[in-house]
Amino acid sequence: MTNVGNSAASRDKAFYLHPYTNLKTHETVGPLVIERGSGVHVFDDSGKSYIEGMAGLWCTSLGFGEERLVEAAARQMRKLPFYHSFGHKAHDPGIDLAEALIGMAPVPMSKVFFTSSGSEANDTVVKLVWYHNNALGRPNKKKIIARQKGYHGVTVASASLTGLPHLHRDFDLPIAGILHTDCPHFYRYGEDGETEEDFAIRMANQLEQLILAEGPDTIAAFIAEPVMGAGGVIVPPASYFDHIQPVLKRYDILFIADEVICGFGRTGSMFGSQTFNLKPDIITVAKALSSAYLPIAAVMISEPIYQTMVSQSEKIGTFGHGYTYSGHPVSAAVALETLKIYQERDIVGHVRSVAPTLQQGLRRFADHPLVGEVRGVGLIAGVEIVADKVTKAPFDPKLAIGGHVARFAQDHGLIVRAMGDTIGFCPPLVITAAELDDLVDRFGKALDATLAMVTEKGLA
Ligand code: PMP
Repeated sequence: MTNVGNSAASRDKAFYLHPYTNLKTHETVGPLVIERGSGVHVFDDSGKSYIEGMAGLWCTSLGFGEERLVEAAARQMRKLPFYHSFGHKAHDPGIDLAEALIGMAPVPMSKVFFTSSGSEANDTVVKLVWYHNNALGRPNKKKIIARQKGYHGVTVASASLTGLPHLHRDFDLPIAGILHTDCPHFYRYGEDGETEEDFAIRMANQLEQLILAEGPDTIAAFIAEPVMGAGGVIVPPASYFDHIQPVLKRYDILFIADEVICGFGRTGSMFGSQTFNLKPDIITVAKALSSAYLPIAAVMISEPIYQTMVSQSEKIGTFGHGYTYSGHPVSAAVALETLKIYQERDIVGHVRSVAPTLQQGLRRFADHPLVGEVRGVGLIAGVEIVADKVTKAPFDPKLAIGGHVARFAQDHGLIVRAMGDTIGFCPPLVITAAELDDLVDRFGKALDATLAMVTEKGLA
């Protein structure tokens, strides 16, 4: 083995293949090594502190030092570090968590299936939808409609649902039978003279056109995040889902709500489905389910879906799907404690009380020369950077302006995420108003630094 040096950065470059990273750039810039966390802050290996403005990957809702979760994990590890739930086996944390989730679901749900990640949860959903329609004797009703810019994961099926070209390109995706309808982003795709309401109706009409063109008997399900996250924090028009849902009903199409980001308080209700009045048949959750302290995700299904599945299982035998770590007891124990904390601390009430500090704070930048749109709800927000505010023209993607903003923010002790030229904010839900003010101020400095760079280089 060649000598790679002792620093964490050099060993990282030598051995670590980074997920979702520009591999070539990484060879030069190397990693930001995060060593520890406390509250809404993380600290790198030089001791510098950052506000974690993205809660990691939209997930550490309780921040970085929740001792009760540490204790819950340790207690469960000592008692029963692993057991599975194949072949009729069960354990208390899994049962308790399933009961808790059904008890808090935004619409009546019947059963919970556990996975370790959001991708696995959405992958499971694809299989359940197929299984369901086979059980109903509808072998041709199998296609699933997702949306451009939707994000549902990276496994073969869930990456196919994801509507981002760079997750498909060169991976031979999407798989057959996955379709993408329009992205409900009024700022970008609204037409001249169109109101948001007109736009929402047009989105629903275009969905219906797609269904009719494909043949309604071939369409099994539609999947949507209440607020699109990784596609650029896209908040749909208020009535968008009110127009979409009747179309699905008309053609007997299941509605899957991907609550992987929105679930557990993010949008100012316990579920994004409540904020946007969704009545899904299937819900996936992950991330904040355990405040990301351990990997766990879940799929909730309605009673009618369960009934068709159980009748199929009666006919063909074992329901042949499950993961070694489905409902891992330590993850489940941590998730249960997380849900308890949300209740005890009224996390939804807290989000509602501090959200205006983030939303109004960021809207202060609406007049900034680089800012095209500020959008968001609850404690999730996006700021879209543009080259021309009037025409909404973006910068040349090669300039990676969003990446520059994120790097300047990092210089000012704030971690945010650039999704193209939209900067995402999704701080831990426990963040205080004072910390949000601090976050907004730091972001303002990053915007000004970017403007200075753009001006100096004559880019706009
Ligand atoms: N759905 C949504 C809405 C997500 O944001 C994500 C992850 N960012 C996923 C699914 C996939 O989850 P995971 O990364 O845990 O596989």
